[in-house]
Amino acid sequence: MNRMSFDDLAGKVCVLTGGAGVIGTALAKGLASMGIKTAIIDLNEENARNTAAAIEADSGTTTRGYKANVLDRSSLEEAKRLINSELGKIDLLINGAGGNSPKATTQLEQMGKENLVELEKTFYGLDIEAFQWVFDLNFKGTLLPTMVFTRDMLESGSGSVINISSMNSFKPLTKIPAYSAAKASINNFTQWLAVHLAKTGIRVNAVAPGFFLTKQNYFLMVDEKTSKPTPRGQKVLNNTPMGRYGEVDELQGAVAFLLSDMSRFITGVCIPVDGGYSAFGGV
Ligand code: NAD
Repeated sequence: MNRMSFDDLAGKVCVLTGGAGVIGTALAKGLASMGIKTAIIDLNEENARNTAAAIEADSGTTTRGYKANVLDRSSLEEAKRLINSELGKIDLLINGAGGNSPKATTQLEQMGKENLVELEKTFYGLDIEAFQWVFDLNFKGTLLPTMVFTRDMLESGSGSVINISSMNSFKPLTKIPAYSAAKASINNFTQWLAVHLAKTGIRVNAVAPGFFLTKQNYFLMVDEKTSKPTPRGQKVLNNTPMGRYGEVDELQGAVAFLLSDMSRFITGVCIPVDGGYSAFGGV
């Protein structure tokens, strides 16, 4: 009988983009705990190196930080050269870099006849360049690193890619149309690439985090003065059947499962880690 474990992951090399961020750091800690040698890639080199050094000191697992821009192919190629010479061939990839822009966000949730004089607060006031920026960061910022970092997996005939999606990908949240559409494109791309690569031994899946309090959303969710939930934060909690935000280390299990041979017949799925949010109809 097979013994169930994540032991196959020990000694493998994983690239984690956006790895110095809140979720990336939690994922990197989880990878180190399983003995996975991790290359943390981030636009912010100092944060990447410091995060990696702290995780390596704590876990004893090789963890290194590299500067690269997920939107710049030559910087990704350069990072790959360094990773190959310092850590070895790449077995695993997590596309974690992503985010939203306030300029691609409407101030109002819905329009009514009374808003016709303040169109700048609605869909009609969205900044098209910011829209493009959000699309590029989330979609192209997943596409390009996948082109660059899965090349070693093609040669070895095995590998696992995880894209980081969002609740917005299933049903858009109000106010953030660019981020919602960009994350929906991640789910679609995950399925497309999973099919395209299925016979190469490379699996492609996604994880959709529910609501986690992070620096990107803290002040949308928590009133700075009272530390109580904002009306939007309260709506999120009311729509999360478990009645709380997630802790970022609660993403580690789904990621470990999708990286490991435990999921070797699974490709093209997106696993919500959301306290039941995506299952709940709101009533
Ligand atoms: P974060 O802002 O803490 O981390 C993002 C990291 O990506 C930062 O370290 C940043 O420097 C880096 N980065 C930004 N642009 C880059 C680029 N062009 N090239 C390389 N690195 C770049 O964000 P987070 O909250 O940890 O989110 C991580 C991922 O999870 C994102 O894809 C985000 O959309 C997604 N997500 C977050 C939440 C949440 O609740 N925070 C929910 C769902 C999905």
